[in-house]
Amino acid sequence: METPASKHDYSSNESDGRTGSRHRSFATNDQLLRFCYCGKDAHVRTSWTSHNPGRRFRGCPGNEGQYCGSFQWVDPPMCRRSKEIIPGLLNRISEYESQIKSLNELLHAEEMRRTTLRNYLYVVIFVWLMTTCIVFFV
Ligand SMILES: [Zn+2]
Repeated sequence: METPASKHDYSSNESDGRTGSRHRSFATNDQLLRFCYCGKDAHVRTSWTSHNPGRRFRGCPGNEGQYCGSFQWVDPPMCRRSKEIIPGLLNRISEYESQIKSLNELLHAEEMRRTTLRNYLYVVIFVWLMTTCIVFFV
């Protein structure tokens, strides 16, 4: 899913991150963007692009997928090491989540099989008891 951050990835344009236009800097607390250009409360979101993984920004909350373009970084620029490490960690988390999903599906299938076998066992025991009773009393 494309976020405003992916459309406005200014990491290559930043100098020290504190100068430049309102769009290309990150803000101190008293400079935070409160409202977007269309007058809505600017929402804080998190960028997951490869240049800014986990970096928060404020921007237009959007209206049916339309954004006015207001954008401001909340967090300072990320160091090179973070940009190298975080995407790899996110990939590993994604792989583990995929494995957990597969294992949960296997577990669910195994639980269904156990329930079926247990019900089958109950039927066999019931039939055996009925047969025993019939043979004993006849
Ligand atoms: Zn807006």
